[in-house]
Amino acid sequence: MDHLPIFIDVKGKRTLVVGSGVVAARKADLLLRAGSELTIVAPQLDEELTRLAETHEFAHQAEELSAGNFADCVIAFGCSNDQAVNEHLCELAATAGVMVNVSDQSDNSDFIMPAVVDRSPVLVAISSGGSSPLLTRMLKARFETSTPAAYGQLAEFAGNYRDRIKELIPNLTRRRRFWEEMIAGPVAEHLFSGQLDLAGSLMERLLEDATKGGDLQPVGEVYLVGTGPGDPDLLTFRALRLMQQADVVLHDRLIGEGILNLVRRDAARIYVGKLPEQHTVPQEEIGNMLIRLAGEGKRVLRLKGGDPFVFGRGGEEIEALTEHGIAFQVIPGVTAANGCAAYAGIPLTHRDHAQACVFVTGHEKDGQLNLNWDSLLQARQTVVIYMGLSSLGTITEGFLNHGADPQTPAAIIENGTRTGQRVITGTLESLADKTEEAGIESPALVIVGSVVTLRDKLSWYANKN
Ligand code: SAH
Repeated sequence: MDHLPIFIDVKGKRTLVVGSGVVAARKADLLLRAGSELTIVAPQLDEELTRLAETHEFAHQAEELSAGNFADCVIAFGCSNDQAVNEHLCELAATAGVMVNVSDQSDNSDFIMPAVVDRSPVLVAISSGGSSPLLTRMLKARFETSTPAAYGQLAEFAGNYRDRIKELIPNLTRRRRFWEEMIAGPVAEHLFSGQLDLAGSLMERLLEDATKGGDLQPVGEVYLVGTGPGDPDLLTFRALRLMQQADVVLHDRLIGEGILNLVRRDAARIYVGKLPEQHTVPQEEIGNMLIRLAGEGKRVLRLKGGDPFVFGRGGEEIEALTEHGIAFQVIPGVTAANGCAAYAGIPLTHRDHAQACVFVTGHEKDGQLNLNWDSLLQARQTVVIYMGLSSLGTITEGFLNHGADPQTPAAIIENGTRTGQRVITGTLESLADKTEEAGIESPALVIVGSVVTLRDKLSWYANKN
């Protein structure tokens, strides 16, 4: 180890930044956030530092650095473009016994600055000892994306319970297990989603179990997670985190392997989609399964294609959970309309084409399409039809029978956002035939409206597939 990693308390203590410019501003910002009393020594403040002065208080000294600047100073930073100024700083600091960092010059520095992921009070500091700033940046990006923004809140919450828990659970091993359950479980998740009251009551329940003396009873919960239309890159951070925590996962045919592979390896998988003999597991049975598994204390992941609340029957599943007092979380996903539109180069709204957009289902109930045609035929509106493949002929005919222009542009997107995405464009008159000719299969989404004509302009690969 070439350096000793430490975190210094500079609150209320004097610090120095010598120089102006972006680097000086970045150091100044860190020092001010850490609460130090900062003096900036520079002939004048540049734009960045002037902006910083609008929101933070620090002293500015235009005169040259002198030995007096080092009285009670804890650390100093050399950020000048003038090497002589930085060298002068190093000499004075050495005499005064103050540690110095000169930007990008680890040889002239007593300490180096890490890349920081700030989730105060949690701080992650990363350094490659100056050997590979790129690697440091990559690691920082990884921590930034995998560390929930509310980690600081979690640490604070835990901090408030520390003394009480030490007293209530004197045994070290049991106490560690308690913290593990708290930090990786529902308490933390509810904190992350801002539900402080619920987090507090779950914490009390956990504490009650722990102090009863028996084994910790894990609290079961259901995560209703929207996975987006298929491309795993469209998952949210939150979805990914919960997928990594689940004990058991319920999935159906809308969930591709790419996404399933991101679920925790040892989570049990239960397929609840269409079975080989083409029967879907009834909704009620899925609801009962969720209740039973969560009741056993499991963290149950229910994956939903797209968004759980857009034609996803998420509402029904949750209703069943609330009736049984099972805790749950709903994680939104990119709905098929958004994903398909973006990947096909068809904006859903556009100043010149559509000021409104409606999502409807083309699913027939008892052989009947139940659509409000008057509302679908509005001018300057895009209509997105989910589950419309098998009844596409009936749908386009319906539009025409109700007076739509046969030349109204329309598109169908098969396997949107996934490898093998296909887009067929045409008109209300031609789309059904073209779709049949191309042998389009499920899942497929239909978009009707003049925004479809923008695809040629907005999709760089429009002519390639
Ligand atoms: N909750 C989902 C919709 C479920 S209904 C969501 O928010 O997207 C299932 C229908 O969604 C399919 O019949 C199809 O019309 C559409 N769909 C889902 N994923 C799709 C994809 N990758 N490409 C095209 N259509 C998709």
